[in-house]
Amino acid sequence: MFNTVTSLDDRVSEILAGDPATPEDALAVLLTPDQDVLALTASVARLRRRYFGDTVKVNYLVNLKSGLCPEDCHYCSQALGSQADILKYKWLRTDEAIDQATAGVRGGASRVCLVSSGRGPTNRDVDRVSAMVSALKDSHPQVEVCACLGLLQDGQAEKLRAAGVDAYNHNINTAESHHDSIVTTHTYADRVDTIGKATEAGLSPCSGLIAGLGETDEQLVEALFALRELDSASIPVNFLMPFDGTPLEGTWELTPLRCLRILAMARMVCPDKEIRIAGGRELHLRSLQGQALHLANSIFLGDYLTSEGQAATDDLALIEDNGFAVLGAEATPERDAGRDPSIRRRGAGTGLRPNA
Ligand code: SF4
Repeated sequence: MFNTVTSLDDRVSEILAGDPATPEDALAVLLTPDQDVLALTASVARLRRRYFGDTVKVNYLVNLKSGLCPEDCHYCSQALGSQADILKYKWLRTDEAIDQATAGVRGGASRVCLVSSGRGPTNRDVDRVSAMVSALKDSHPQVEVCACLGLLQDGQAEKLRAAGVDAYNHNINTAESHHDSIVTTHTYADRVDTIGKATEAGLSPCSGLIAGLGETDEQLVEALFALRELDSASIPVNFLMPFDGTPLEGTWELTPLRCLRILAMARMVCPDKEIRIAGGRELHLRSLQGQALHLANSIFLGDYLTSEGQAATDDLALIEDNGFAVLGAEATPERDAGRDPSIRRRGAGTGLRPNA
């Protein structure tokens, strides 16, 4: 643990000067007492500001194929054996995918993430997604496209790159030492192999983790250093959403302050990488989402793959209210100046129940 907030601040200065964070630093951040988390955030925010200024990258997820997956990732509502009551459907048509992606771009997203459930794509699936990407790039040439289709076979990453895909997402999800307790149908090495294939093909590697899977602090640190080693350009930090009907149902290990510590640790270890607050943002950070933006520089707009997020307009308000700007937006999207006060018509002086 850092002895004082000042010693943490000194360490941040050293990182800014080019001396990278060590596993001991990372562990110390995770052990920060609750009362020091505000100071921790203020300190680590200096790293975020150095590399990303006041911008927030907005990403938009399109779930091209939902559920019906043969893999057994314990955290996933789409997995084999999951009884979670989610939407299940086969591939969207190209026009349906483009409609969904266009909504995200209009909402402020500069990156669209095209995701499908499954172990990995067939060559026909790669052709199908390639056609979607070509159509999307025709209508929105400025938008970045990230594909997330599972484990890749030889040659598939190159095909996606040729079709205009910019990035490939494949999360390591957790530390290698914890991996086999969260999935048995593929290995950690399989995941690393796909990230390598994507990188070699010229796709920007996007790989991150899920916190709250029963891992130890040391394993969270192990995962972040593995991502640093893999040179992941964008790092989604998910907080477990323990869907009913999945093996991790009822697993609640996170608090809003712990989520901030995890994001601060990620920023310290990978100061110049895109740190994205991903699934579970609203569920776990709750009223601390604004503080989290001082550590992370990227969020998803609106809904996730199988769960609903807060209203997209609330995401944009979150960014603006905290003094940040949407990356790539020429102007701040038009918003109401404010909401009119709501006249009280319940509680004292009425026959209706009070708001308590
Ligand atoms: S995380 Fe991906 S591979 Fe694992 S069960 Fe879910 S959809 Fe399938």
